[in-house]
Amino acid sequence: MRLLADLHTHTLASGHAYSTATELAVAARRAGLGLIAITDHGPACPGAPEQWYFWNLKVVPSIIDGVRILKGCEANPAETENGIDLPDSILENLDFVAVGFHPETGFDQRDRARNTDALLRVIANPYVDMITHPGNDDEFPLDLDAVVAEAAARGVILELNDHSFAPTSCRASSNHREREFAEAAMAAGVPVAVNSDAHFASQVGRFEAALAIAEQIGLAEERIVNRTPASVLEHLLGRRERPRLDHGGVWDSGQSGVS
Ligand SMILES: [Zn+2]
Ligand SMILES: [Zn+2]
Repeated sequence: MRLLADLHTHTLASGHAYSTATELAVAARRAGLGLIAITDHGPACPGAPEQWYFWNLKVVPSIIDGVRILKGCEANPAETENGIDLPDSILENLDFVAVGFHPETGFDQRDRARNTDALLRVIANPYVDMITHPGNDDEFPLDLDAVVAEAAARGVILELNDHSFAPTSCRASSNHREREFAEAAMAAGVPVAVNSDAHFASQVGRFEAALAIAEQIGLAEERIVNRTPASVLEHLLGRRERPRLDHGGVWDSGQSGVS
């Protein structure tokens, strides 16, 4: 199985990642990918950018070095008006909206019921496309059945996160749960994405560990949203309009001295 898109990458704007958007795009092209989503952490994460960063993502080209760029976020559940640490007025203009739990954003109490309630509200938000690393059970326990049922009802992607299976990951101790989420998502007809969660350019398109899990559990390739750039765009445009999807132009970084 070969996937040609990566829906979870971070630039140095996240505060604990170390590559630029252009470096991610160049690495994606070298890895043979045709599309990446740039999903920097939402404002609740320590060191993450403010709302203005996400609002102005429209200036980033939609194609860099031949790679389609989705300008997105990895926001956090939050006790705000819409239950997310970015308002709907920002989310509606992003090409791709991912949300997931992270340390030091207000949910460190390991309260399964509270986490589940917060995430069900997130999944019900029509701008939310994907829930990242749902199997992080040691840090952010969830009611798996409730989350999978709501994701199925709303057509929200549940992620199978490659980095969760890295021995150095903070989520490694509960990665069996990431597999359980993928199995339950498969059974319930929930769309799945297999992503790198790259925090450095060389990690873009690295899915080997998560793909091994996908193959072990018998997850069919056609159930994975990020098979190709076209399969990603078809899924996203089938859910809602993306007003800025083609905004920002084309930039051939090769002609600009970056390679
Ligand atoms: Zn991060
Ligand atoms: Zn994350």
